Amino acid sequence: MDMKSGLFGERVIVIDFGGQYNQLVARRVRECNVYCEIYSYKTDIGQIKEMAPKGIILTGGPNSCYEENAPTYAKELFELGIPVLGLCYGAQLMMHILGGRVEKAPVKEYGKTEVSVDSDSPLFADVSAKTICWMSHNDYISQTAPGFQVIAHTADCPVAAAQHTDKNLYAIQFHPEVLHTMEGTKMIYNFVRGVCGCAGTWRMDSFVEETVNRIRERVGGGKVLLALSGGVDSSVAAGLLSRAIGNQLTCVFVDHGLLRKNEGDEVEAVFGTNGDFDLNFIRVNAQERYYAKLAGVTDPEAKRKIIGEEFIRVFEEEAKKIGAVDFLAQGTIYPDVVESGLGGESAVIKSHHNVGGLPDFVDFKEIIEPLRDLFKDEVRKAGLELGIPENLVFRQPFPGPGLGIRIIGEVTAEKVRIVQDADAIYREEIAKAGLDRSVGQYFAALTNMRSVGVMGDERTYDYAVALRAVNTVDFMTAEAAEIPFAVLQTVMSRIINEVRGVNRVFYDLTSKPPGTIEFE
Ligand code: GLN
Repeated sequence: MDMKSGLFGERVIVIDFGGQYNQLVARRVRECNVYCEIYSYKTDIGQIKEMAPKGIILTGGPNSCYEENAPTYAKELFELGIPVLGLCYGAQLMMHILGGRVEKAPVKEYGKTEVSVDSDSPLFADVSAKTICWMSHNDYISQTAPGFQVIAHTADCPVAAAQHTDKNLYAIQFHPEVLHTMEGTKMIYNFVRGVCGCAGTWRMDSFVEETVNRIRERVGGGKVLLALSGGVDSSVAAGLLSRAIGNQLTCVFVDHGLLRKNEGDEVEAVFGTNGDFDLNFIRVNAQERYYAKLAGVTDPEAKRKIIGEEFIRVFEEEAKKIGAVDFLAQGTIYPDVVESGLGGESAVIKSHHNVGGLPDFVDFKEIIEPLRDLFKDEVRKAGLELGIPENLVFRQPFPGPGLGIRIIGEVTAEKVRIVQDADAIYREEIAKAGLDRSVGQYFAALTNMRSVGVMGDERTYDYAVALRAVNTVDFMTAEAAEIPFAVLQTVMSRIINEVRGVNRVFYDLTSKPPGTIEFE
């Protein structure tokens, strides 16, 4: 979907130089109620001008701007009369292009650092004179470009920020977008609402309304097909499309038998014939097919592959019954675009199970991705706006291959039952303890280990369940959550008492890295 034209009113453009925190920059801007989009540094300046942004932000990046093939940008960008804020690499590049000097820093800075700022600068309005900021750089600005005035420094960094107020150019060496920068959100607010003069009228309800209108316009009388997984993203995409075009939308929901307990029925209750949404809902109960294909397979990658391929097969069969459609809809959200290396300059992290494979097997003309510019929490807000029930909107993140990768080793119907029941108990107790919104992600997995126990004076030889709970920081890392011991004990005793086949429960303390959140 083309969201690039002016329907969202005022906007700020982020130019991506491959930094790690670029998504966060866009997100912070939207938190100031200003619409924001990210474009590659390869985007032509003509295109940027056409969008008439109220402000431009240049992100950080891994390169050194003085190196020969380092990413750069047309000097004209700084002469458009549009305020520009450079962050880290972006700040260095601004100085480099405008005649300042950037070189290897005598002292690199990494992590939380005390910065002294000039509170008279519009960028630092209401910011404390000494404030903690997140630094991550090897190079530094050794000399500002002509006309710039230094407005912040640290013990090791003489130019932690600089400004050219006449031209509305601002450069910050640290990362205000990262939450470790205590007053970073305020600085971004000062830039977009203060310097750029954005009114801050963008809201999620306007996103829903605008998107619904755009979908109507684009789809016309056409037919749309969506693979509904029951996850937050595809559910919200279904909600949006249903509101826009009603039963021109057909949703195919494949129950692969690797969903959480009762999940298939919950999805059907919301989107099926008895639910509140106007659409065609097709549920395919493919459990037996999946279990048959997975029998005897233990290698995690092989399992993922089988699950992915079988999904395509099932979907393809359904798509054939439906016949040609005009659009294939996908619930791709912004982090997927970034992780797949489709949108940004950052490295490819993983390819997406439900995104990559489908298009080849469905007879359609165009792809429609109504959530492509949103972050997870924004997708959730849109979901609530659309009237999708809270239990679905705040559902735990769930991998495409489902419980298939939370069961270590071979997947069987019996093991699925065990992990579903254990997981349901765990989730129930976490909710009872009031932790369901504060803990990032939590689930039960089934280890491939059996051990000896004693129950009712009899020897048992049963499986061990692993409980995982993590809090993620800035999407990059995760730490084991501190679930109160009493809660864990209740979960442990309920699982052992209520779930046949389990006689031991572990709590996973591993952080990411070195671990991953999922087990396989
Ligand atoms: N690569 C540049 C440096 O090391 C910029 C780093 C960044 O943008 N985080 O200083």
